[in-house]
Amino acid sequence: MDSIQEKRDAYQKARSLLDRNDNQLLRYAVLEFRRCIEAVVYEKLWAYRDRIPLDAAKKWQPPQAFKALQLMEPNAASTAIIRIAKQNNIGEQVNGNFETTGIDVRPNTGWLNKTYNKIGTFLHANWPFSHNVSCKDPRELRGYLEKVASELEPLVKKSFTCTVERLVTFECSVCGSNIKANANGLEQAGEVFCINPECGSRHFVTKEGENLLFSLDACSVKCQECQTIITLPRQKLHVGYDFSCPNCTSQYEVHEQIWEIKKING
Ligand SMILES: [Zn+2]
Ligand SMILES: [Zn+2]
Repeated sequence: MDSIQEKRDAYQKARSLLDRNDNQLLRYAVLEFRRCIEAVVYEKLWAYRDRIPLDAAKKWQPPQAFKALQLMEPNAASTAIIRIAKQNNIGEQVNGNFETTGIDVRPNTGWLNKTYNKIGTFLHANWPFSHNVSCKDPRELRGYLEKVASELEPLVKKSFTCTVERLVTFECSVCGSNIKANANGLEQAGEVFCINPECGSRHFVTKEGENLLFSLDACSVKCQECQTIITLPRQKLHVGYDFSCPNCTSQYEVHEQIWEIKKING
């Protein structure tokens, strides 16, 4: 089953479980809504498959897939009508009739992620100290799931993704993964995380003229043997993290995390 079929199938099943008006079935509707949200994300990601490092994608769990979609579609929730017309010469204004190609309904990735996690809490056994009291009241849960259904519906009905945009490629300086991302989105975010789940290194993004520059969020230490400066990605730092000097291969381990305090005024 491809993602388009799967999102429709899951939505349909969730809808009919809700319509049976049996509170015992709400938990099963949640399962179908979660499958539907995953399929919506995978459907969109499939359109960007030539930009995704396959090795990384094979290891993704839903949270990594959500992050990757955010990278590809930073203009979340901005639905666009795509129209095209023939241009006779480069640079010339197009006067011809525009033809509508499709409506690109872009999901708000933040909403998808939040909803996916929130409804996931309804799958757990009741715990008396849980903060999530809404799962104890089936009427409240039903109302919430109806809201989720109406917000998901346009994403289920429409299946068109436009991937035309300004792209930028950069190589993660830690694991070497090639990452293609939407340039406008990177400019807005000012940062990007490597989509290889075993790496996840953070890079800062700055604009210089027309170009984007990527710098690893890192700290540096000096090799005690050969004085080479060694760069350590901040994302990886923890007590016990081992690394070697790229020049003389001396082995090191992060030994201690030191907390410092400073007096603040007022
Ligand atoms: Zn990486
Ligand atoms: Zn060294």
